[in-house]
Amino acid sequence: MAVAAEQEIQAREYIQAVFETVQRRNPNESEFQQAVKEILESLVPVLAKHPKYREQGILERIVEPERLVTFRVPWVDDQGIVRVNRGFRVQFNSAIGPYKGGLRFHPSVNASIIKFLGFEQTFKNSLTGQPIGGGKGGSDFDPKDKSDREIMRFTQSFMTELSKYIGPDTDIPAGDIGVGGREIGYLFGQYKRIRGAHEAGVLTGKGTLYGGSLARTEATGYGCVYFVDEMLAAKGLGFEGSTVVVSGSGNVAIYAVEKAAQLGAKVVACSDSNGYIHDPNGIDLAAVRRLKEQERKRIAEYVLDHPGATYQEGCSGIWSIPCDIALPCATQNEIDEDAAKLLVKNGVKAVGEGANMPSTLQAIEVFLQAGVLFGPAKAANAGGVAVSALEMAQNSTRQAWEFEEVDARLHGIMRSIYQNSVQAAEEYGHPGNLVVGANIAGFLKVADAMIAQGVV
Ligand code: NDP
Repeated sequence: MAVAAEQEIQAREYIQAVFETVQRRNPNESEFQQAVKEILESLVPVLAKHPKYREQGILERIVEPERLVTFRVPWVDDQGIVRVNRGFRVQFNSAIGPYKGGLRFHPSVNASIIKFLGFEQTFKNSLTGQPIGGGKGGSDFDPKDKSDREIMRFTQSFMTELSKYIGPDTDIPAGDIGVGGREIGYLFGQYKRIRGAHEAGVLTGKGTLYGGSLARTEATGYGCVYFVDEMLAAKGLGFEGSTVVVSGSGNVAIYAVEKAAQLGAKVVACSDSNGYIHDPNGIDLAAVRRLKEQERKRIAEYVLDHPGATYQEGCSGIWSIPCDIALPCATQNEIDEDAAKLLVKNGVKAVGEGANMPSTLQAIEVFLQAGVLFGPAKAANAGGVAVSALEMAQNSTRQAWEFEEVDARLHGIMRSIYQNSVQAAEEYGHPGNLVVGANIAGFLKVADAMIAQGVV
């Protein structure tokens, strides 16, 4: 047998053994196992070519978080009843910089979700080219239907405990599902009060009145569209004149819709966790923003004053709407194999993952087999954390850059993430496969930094 083929078999066996250990150590954590499986499988050609990663136990170390903290979050609701939620912070990998990653407030949050997100974040942060390690956190608290006062009491209680583990040079949280500008404001206020110092660099996604960066709010959605635009441009295509479907109607979705429309696309659908709207004339983004950002209502109400639009209960139906470009920007595993097949049947040309892990492993396979341009989350949605790192840089130097400057840097970062992913995919024998390319490009930097720092 040729040496290369034998090395590949050995790499596969080794990776399978590491994965089995992950399964054994993390039983019932399906999301975490799914994220680990996707990355490890991409690394076969790297392990086959470079035995040093095996000799140094890099895979065994990289799949194990440096630290996972869980804590009680007690608070009192408006009726005076004591409530208790569970808080999490995973500090996954600090090889290339302090832990960095968002906080998610959603009833589905558990150790598996937080670990999958923290694991992915490690590679995503590496891909941005910024000096940030991987972390993630959150709580099973449901912000829906809570009063503003309840949100404040909860976030203050959450930060009282979290503050023991974070700091501008240690671990820098940001927003994610259920944690937007309002929550970051309350979290920062409580942290400042506990520390007695205005350490702006401890959180990102802050308001621009107190240390936030212009263009951070837009960054994930805009960045996702910039990334997809690179994929399209390489094939002589573009957003101009295309039909786009975006799931979600939160932070990422809203700015993906805005940028796609700016580039000449017609966005015909978006959703929330109850259902989706289809507006063949093109989504009225101002109306969506008013409903979701200000009035905090359900997307269903959109159709009340948009006669051409329809509303359907349930989330997966959105993928039955024919489109050229699909941007899943809501949550994990929202595109399964059947939804992917439907998208392909209806002629989708490109998929850009704005959310984290929105496509199942089977769905990704369907897209790749069909030759659909596929931008995986850790590359396509890295714009948010990239601009968070720019926010940290501005905080450290006490500067505030113009919107245009941050946006131009974001655009440059998304372009280089695309190019690095393409190059890594080619170099390791999977030309055009950005899932493999992004995983390898993200891995190499973290792994080499780990080797340089010894067995820690
Ligand atoms: P938001 O809370 O602002 O919005 C989330 C949107 O998705 C809402 O429309 C929400 O509906 C919908 N949604 C949430 N859970 C589900 C579900 N189980 N099924 C269907 N729809 C659901 O969050 P973000 O926009 O910040 O985050 C969206 C995704 O992007 C997440 O995967 C997040 O991890 C990822 N991401 C976010 C970044 C950021 O900078 N914010 C950076 C990188 C990735 P409803 O209104 O009903 O709650």
